[in-house]
Amino acid sequence: MAHSIRAVTGQAAADHRPLLSIIVPVLNEEATVGPFVARIVSVLEALREPQGWEVLFIDDGSEDATLAAIAAANRIEPRVRAIALSRNFGKEAALSAGLDHARGQAVIPIDVDLQDPPEVIGAMLAKWREGHEVVYGVRRNRESDSLPKRITAEWYYRAHNWLSHDKIPEHAGDFRLLDRKVVDVIRKMPERNRFMKGLFAWGGFRQAAVEYERAERAHGSTKFNYWKLWQLALDGITSGSTLPLRIWSYLGGGIALLAFGYAVYVVIRTLIGGGDVPGYPSLIVAILFFGGLQLLSLGILGEYVGRILVETKGRPLYVVREEIGGDEASID
Ligand code: UDP
Ligand code: MG
Repeated sequence: MAHSIRAVTGQAAADHRPLLSIIVPVLNEEATVGPFVARIVSVLEALREPQGWEVLFIDDGSEDATLAAIAAANRIEPRVRAIALSRNFGKEAALSAGLDHARGQAVIPIDVDLQDPPEVIGAMLAKWREGHEVVYGVRRNRESDSLPKRITAEWYYRAHNWLSHDKIPEHAGDFRLLDRKVVDVIRKMPERNRFMKGLFAWGGFRQAAVEYERAERAHGSTKFNYWKLWQLALDGITSGSTLPLRIWSYLGGGIALLAFGYAVYVVIRTLIGGGDVPGYPSLIVAILFFGGLQLLSLGILGEYVGRILVETKGRPLYVVREEIGGDEASID
């Protein structure tokens, strides 16, 4: 009996998927969850979508009371639910977990710190209804970022788009609407290295942009330092492009050619002019230059080989420890 009821509700839930899933990765955000839920719920209610919505938090191994804060929100508003990962897997993995567990026809990842204004969601839905499958938010300004972060971001987008086939739109973060079709394509991608912006770009589809002002973080502090950003940048470039590997073949070829020319010159000069004074400067310059070049190219090779290792292990992207809410069905 209980079994058949469950089967029926499961079926019903599959038919009544929420229109919209908001997915929110969180790491140590106990102070941020409350204000975020208050604001996003009022925005979503104002949309008056009969098919409804859900807010899915992905607790990325928080060590504070983040999960308790979400559980409290869930008791008041059951459409707020959560999955908790077994440890910190990083924002990209948390987003993958969110895409896997979201049930909506459209999915929007958003940061919990209210830097991405939830009010933009209405505009995203409008573009989606016009037939765009990806609607990404583009930041009109970067004034809420420090100057070094602005400059490094600028350089990064340029470098990435110059090196890689999958062009990522500049100043677009993870705040974007994804149609169910796009979500399913991304979920099928087998790679461990989840540089989300690159995956979104690879997926193609009809894309549109909505502009917004990015606000200051409302509560709490940033979870990204420069080291984490640098690692993200490396993941982005090495997952989207093999040009850094190829550059060394060209550079090596060019230098070998020059060296050969120089060797011919030295031989001829020695034949004509006889023995030379010991060529210490040219020697040491050549040794240091080639030494540096070799170390650099070895390092770049290592970056790729390391990533091949990670891919071949084929471990899961994340591990779920527990779920809060959403009992009625998980659709797959
Ligand atoms: N975040 C996460 N896992 C991490 C780091 C960050 O889930 O390992 C979440 C964080 O809680 C926030 C979002 O990712 O909701 C963006 O982080 P943050 O605002 O600190 O980054 P910033 O805006 O400073 O780049
Ligand atoms: Mg932020």
